[in-house]
Amino acid sequence: MDIIPGRSVGEAFPELTVELAALLRREGEDALAISVGGLRVHSACSCRDDFCKSFYTAAPPDGAYGDGHWNIMLEPVEGMLILDIVDDEIVFVEVLYRERLT
Ligand SMILES: [Zn+2]
Repeated sequence: MDIIPGRSVGEAFPELTVELAALLRREGEDALAISVGGLRVHSACSCRDDFCKSFYTAAPPDGAYGDGHWNIMLEPVEGMLILDIVDDEIVFVEVLYRERLT
């Protein structure tokens, strides 16, 4: 897995970006769908689970996310994609049980 901090999500993971945008539109989250490609990769998830390819798109919180935090559980064909949103911005892209991150 190559998670390079600072790259845009659209550049780093073009296939995932297209998929996330489509899944978000299906949920009626058009503004978030438009934002996906322009997000910046902040860092990889530090959990080290081998089924986890999650990454942050903002600095991880010191402890739990506070007010204004919610999740969107998407319905991809493969694995699980869950987004953490804080103040209408995607801050963490949970990518679980997926073969590749592209
Ligand atoms: Zn993880």
